[in-house]
Order: sequence, then structure tokens, then C-alpha cells
Amino acid sequence: MNILVIGGGGREHAIVWSLAGSSKVSKLYCAPGNAGIAKIAECVSIGVMDFDKLVQFAKERAIDLVVVGPDDPLAAGIVDAFEAAGIPAFGPNKAAAEIEGSKIFMKSLLRKYNIPTARYETFDDYETALAYLRQQQPPIVVKADGLAAGKGVTVARTMEEAEAALRGMMIDKVFGASGTKVVIEEFLEGQEMSILSFVDGLAVRPMVPAQDHKPVFDGDKGPNTGGMGTYTPLPHIDPAIMDEAVERIIKPTAAAMVKEGRPFRGVLFAGLMVTKDGPKVIEFNARMGDPETQVVLPRLKTDLLDIILAAMDGKLDQIAIEWSDEAAVCVILASEGYPSSYPKGRPIEGIDRAEAAGALVFHAGTALQDGGIVTSGGRVLGVVGRGRDIEEARNRAYEACSQIRFEGMHYRKDIAAKALGAMKG
Ligand code: AMP
Repeated sequence: MNILVIGGGGREHAIVWSLAGSSKVSKLYCAPGNAGIAKIAECVSIGVMDFDKLVQFAKERAIDLVVVGPDDPLAAGIVDAFEAAGIPAFGPNKAAAEIEGSKIFMKSLLRKYNIPTARYETFDDYETALAYLRQQQPPIVVKADGLAAGKGVTVARTMEEAEAALRGMMIDKVFGASGTKVVIEEFLEGQEMSILSFVDGLAVRPMVPAQDHKPVFDGDKGPNTGGMGTYTPLPHIDPAIMDEAVERIIKPTAAAMVKEGRPFRGVLFAGLMVTKDGPKVIEFNARMGDPETQVVLPRLKTDLLDIILAAMDGKLDQIAIEWSDEAAVCVILASEGYPSSYPKGRPIEGIDRAEAAGALVFHAGTALQDGGIVTSGGRVLGVVGRGRDIEEARNRAYEACSQIRFEGMHYRKDIAAKALGAMKG
């Protein structure tokens, strides 16, 4: 089969890497890809939002299946565009992707179907929102309705912070149209957990759970990022909680989408808070997480393409899906200044040494320049160590990180530290 993967980050590198292991794949393309993806697939320099060109390319190259990575093209209807041209695409259509594209749609869906989530109110008028906010007690959470590159959420510890966030979204329009409407919601206390599931209509097949680290600095300090590291499994979370989340949250959500006439097909990512009253929804994403994908897919023993084809065929509930027992830890190496502005074009060395040490190095923001690999994004590389348990995987990941260098490189030193603490009691 000829396959086209859409995207060019670490998640897409992990997807391409996983698909490259399938015997059914004859040719792999990735648009636009990056310097790491270029080693295992043919990169095509078409942007992820350029649907006309992507569809045209897919027709010319007789693409049998498209796999979409990022949220923006999904929210804008990339799957609908391919389907209109008769090309199968794995990912939710525009109507189903709204579960991520609009927080207000998501929250009202959960409310309507009685699915556990934080209490909330929605607003499209600043004065009304402000009056409501002032009646609440901090901590309180203020969210822009639309997509904001993972930065549209403020967990405010004080009323000043909450008011500043609301003002930024609704008056100063720091997220543009995404902040025209806002959600103000209850702060949930507990352990965070992400569950990614393959979904096709009512069929839900959860993957192994993973945990992200959003803030840029150790100890969860500093501003939020796209994600600074992940690990799997989660030894500190009871497997019964995971089952409860699937039965009480993920399956009912998939069923709700079917009832609403927006059946979801693709990967549904549930961001959950395990509270004292059980797991509750923080967010849904309509695609694989980045960098969750980089630790989850290395544990997948079943051919990823077979799972996707089963979903496309309405047979997702019939395929056996196997996972390895090993642990995986991903540490993100970021550019100087990230998540604010950062320089590009800095030469990277030592990737081959890290790989020789057994790590998987997924490229996120890299490019080829004069035959060498240089930085081209805020998150540059995701270094994945694998092992029998978190401790071994973590040691291997950090050992591999120490082999890699570029000017201004920084990374968190405490990825998976929480899990280690739990293991040691
Ligand atoms: P989101 O972009 O919705 O994933 O939110 C970003 C981060 O904000 C989450 O990973 C949580 O750490 C935090 N967060 C969002 N909503 C809440 C909430 N209701 N209570 C506590 N923390 C939250």
C-alpha cells in the first residue's frame, strides 16, 4: 500500500517509524515531514493546511491511505477533503473533530450525556464572564473555546491571574478568534492521566496509558509547553481506574458522538484527572498526543497499519491488539528560549551516538542544512529510552540525551520522577 502521513513533528516521526515496520507498506510519504522522517519516508514539501495540493499529490501517487497527525487540519476538515476525492483517510471528519476544536461543544456534550467532567459555565460576553468569575473562589480554570496550540488554558491560582487570563482572551484577543468564547471551570485536584484510544463509532480500543509533563521546567515550574516529556506505563495509577475511565468516560463519549450524528473515527485522546470522586475529563483531543505517541507506539506489538485498516473497515472490535510489558520514557530536547521565541538553524550533533546507545530519537523541529541536521523548531528532538521498568527506561533516555548537543539545548531532568517515587513507595 502507498501511505501518506500528514504532519512533521515528533508524533508523526513515531507514526511513520511504526508504519515503516509493516509488511503491507510499499511506499511511505510524509507531508511535510522533517529531517528524521526523511530517513524512513519520502518527505513532500506541502503544508498540512494545503488541502488542494495534498489531495492532488495523493491522486498522482495513488495513495491508498492517509494518516493525519495534527489537530489543525483535522479541525479544518482534511479528512472530509480526502474522502470527497475518494481517498481513505484515518482521522475524524470535521464534525467529529469538533470534540477538540470547540471546548464548548465538548463540555455541552459531556453535560448532555452525564459524563464526568469539571463543573463549568460558558460565555461569549466579557462583562458577564467577569461578573461570574468574581463570584468564584480560586484556584479556577479559564479556557479559550477554540484551538490555541495547547496554550489556551490558564489554571489561575489567584483572582488577579484569572481576570488577566479572561481579559487576554476576550479583550486583547491573544488567541484571536479562538478566545471569542470562553469556558470558566472548576479546578480539579488529583493525578493527571492520558488515555489514547483507537475509536470507530462505538468500538473503543484503549492504548496503554501515558503521562505528559507540560510546564517547561523541573518541578512543573514555568509556562506550559506542547509537552516536555512522557512515560508509560503509569505504575502509580491503579489499573482499575483505567478500566473505570474507559467504561464511564471513553465508551460513553464515543456513543454520544454516534447519537449526535458525528461518529468518531481515529484516535481519541482523553486527558483525565483522577479525583477523589473518580476520573473526570479535562480535555479531549481528536488525534494522537505529542509526545505521548513517542512512548505509546514503541510498546505496540500489533502492526499499526492492521489496526488502522480494521478501523477503516468497521472491524476495530475484532482485531487482537497486543502491547509489550516494557516501559518507555521520552525526554524532549528543546531550543533556547522555548516556549517563547527561539533561534533556528543550530547544528545538532550526537544523534547517532544516542541511537547507537539503543535510544529511539524522534525528530520534532529539525531540518537538513548543508548535509547536516539543524534545529528548526521549539521542541527539537524526543529521546526515548526503553527498559524493563520506568527506572531502566529513564536511565537509558537520560544517558542518550547526554550524547546529544546543540547550542542552547535544554530539557527537564525530572521526567517520570513521580512514577519512580511511587515505585519505591
Ligand atoms: P488542556 O489544554 O485542556 O489540556 O489543559 C492544560 C493543562 O491545564 C492540563 O493538562 C491540566 O494540567 C490543566 N487543567 C486544565 N483544566 C483543568 C481543571 N479543570 N482542573 C485542574 N487542572 C486543569
